[in-house]
Amino acid sequence: MSKRTAIVTGSSRGIGEAIVRRLAQEEYRVTVNDVAANQAGIEKLVNELNEKHGQGTAIGVVADVTSSEQVQSLIQQSVEKLGDLTVFVANAGIAQVAPVLEISDEDVQKMFNVNFMGVWLSYTHAARQMIKQGPVPEGSSGYKILGAASIVAFKPFPLLAHYSASKWAVRGLTQVFAMEMAKHKINVNAYAPGIVGTAMWDLIDEKLGETEGRAKGESVKKYSSELTALERVSVPDDVGGPVGGFLCSKDAEFITGQTIVIDGGIVFT
Ligand code: NAD
Repeated sequence: MSKRTAIVTGSSRGIGEAIVRRLAQEEYRVTVNDVAANQAGIEKLVNELNEKHGQGTAIGVVADVTSSEQVQSLIQQSVEKLGDLTVFVANAGIAQVAPVLEISDEDVQKMFNVNFMGVWLSYTHAARQMIKQGPVPEGSSGYKILGAASIVAFKPFPLLAHYSASKWAVRGLTQVFAMEMAKHKINVNAYAPGIVGTAMWDLIDEKLGETEGRAKGESVKKYSSELTALERVSVPDDVGGPVGGFLCSKDAEFITGQTIVIDGGIVFT
């Protein structure tokens, strides 16, 4: 079995799950992570991956990415059980839909704690682990650190003020991190999905529907058909393929510091 390993945060469902599935398909050994509330989802996915790709392919670790200790423990457990860390995908994130003057200071702190601090802790601890391990083995795809941004890191949307700001911060951090990590041969990139049909968009759809007077399920349809050149709602595999298949591969060796838009044609950078 390949010695490449990957940790994907917030991967019991949605986009993270699609990335982890693709990495397992590419013969990475993978660590599925999420918060304790999603433990059942972690276990189900880990069992499925081990059955499909062979025992020892996947492990599950519950950890909250807002805790420095828990992120360090996540990395340590993955290294002990699967081997040296090759790829870390800081995917975990939260969203909130609200008019800007109805967002409380606590809401902003919570948003930045998960969407920015979670990525900060993931990037810094993953990089320290990779540097400690020394040069990546010959024939490997190379060290990769990736973070979840969004199209709102390029063009903020109304009612997503602090979410947009947190994703813009991920894009900025990714650029400087790539510059500083280049000498360690660590590629650092982010991905920017558009409108992906996951639990997160169910929540956004519901809140937009309440605010703008639309039935459940109608907002996601309206925004995806009106805004997306390819005229459909994105599915998690639309992101899982480019991230797990391409950005984590040797073919992406000369790409660093980029936030790659994967949105079916909403934002043109
Ligand atoms: P999702 O809500 O389905 O999945 C996110 C996962 O992250 C959940 O399983 C959740 O429990 C986990 N998570 C949240 N806080 C965590 C924490 N503190 N520690 C560990 N795990 C935590 O959402 P998704 O749509 O799959 O989104 C994945 C990423 O992609 C997010 O960062 C999101 O902001 C980003 N994104 C999503 C869309 C979209 O349209 N769905 C668009 C752009 C960007």
